Amino acid sequence: MPTRNAPDPSPTLRWDALTARWCLLASHRRNTPRDMTSRLDALRGASECPFCPGHEREAEEATEERLDASGRWLARAVTNRFPMMGRGPIGGATIHRGVFRERPAVGAHEVIVETPLHDADLSDLDPDALATVLDLHRSRHRALAERPDAAAVLLFKNRGPRSGASLRHPHSQVMTCPVVPPSVRRRDAVAARHHRREGSSLVQWLIDAELAAGDRVVASDPHFVALCPWASARSHETWIVPRAPIAHFGATPDALLRSLAAMLRQTLRQVRRVSGDADYNLLLRQPARAKWGEPWAHWLLEIQVRRGGDAGFELSGGMSCTVFSPEESAALMRSSDVL
Ligand SMILES: [Zn+2]
Ligand SMILES: [Zn+2]
Repeated sequence: MPTRNAPDPSPTLRWDALTARWCLLASHRRNTPRDMTSRLDALRGASECPFCPGHEREAEEATEERLDASGRWLARAVTNRFPMMGRGPIGGATIHRGVFRERPAVGAHEVIVETPLHDADLSDLDPDALATVLDLHRSRHRALAERPDAAAVLLFKNRGPRSGASLRHPHSQVMTCPVVPPSVRRRDAVAARHHRREGSSLVQWLIDAELAAGDRVVASDPHFVALCPWASARSHETWIVPRAPIAHFGATPDALLRSLAAMLRQTLRQVRRVSGDADYNLLLRQPARAKWGEPWAHWLLEIQVRRGGDAGFELSGGMSCTVFSPEESAALMRSSDVL
């Protein structure tokens, strides 16, 4: 029987009329388990971790696994026990009550457990193991994108408490969103406008210019470029961009996964080195589902170093502030010996 103070367990999307953006209300996540609320907390040991080998029954059912020759898992995807989106029926219309607009927040949300090793970082894995993780990311991305209500597919990783991670064990997340989230919508609008005016792909134009300039390029191979972007949002922000456009992560060819694994491993290690092993988020930037056929669609990976929450300047202005130039960061990363 619900009490007066019990939160409504069904997450909803509420429309902010002043900014024309959806906000997620997910009161069911209030009791999400945390073993690393801050750096100062004693980190919960592997013995209590639901993602460690031997504790599989404490996590939700696996949706997909990658096994070694002896049948032990190397990486596994499980349904998120505390999903951002509800598991309710697909569909659900937006309810308009004047300025109060609302719709059910429904979608899939899975956790990718990246390794059996509790204390590792993704970049500690050898290139084969990392390629296995990326292959599982791609496979779950493809599976979730099949949902008819997937307006966008988000793929991200939180590493450390300042990144928003709640559990230490290396993991990433893939989820669908029934509306196009604000930053995806904005990026798509900017890229579409550029293509209308210039007839070219914005991401392609940008990486060609970065390669020509050179001083923000960290590494490159025939398939990928790692760079610290011209207008970085945070110090040591780094992108990994496919040289040729790939519309969404699910379309990444087999032949590129190993190359991506090597580039991601090296780049993450360089970011960790120059940032003093700071917490980070790894984000997939890609268009909304409905834009995957557009000629400008071109995914990229973004690494954001996280040292603290946004302050009043960032919150009031929506403008970021960095203290390292991307030219400095790229030079530091190029000179850091991490292999
Ligand atoms: Zn663990
Ligand atoms: Zn256990």
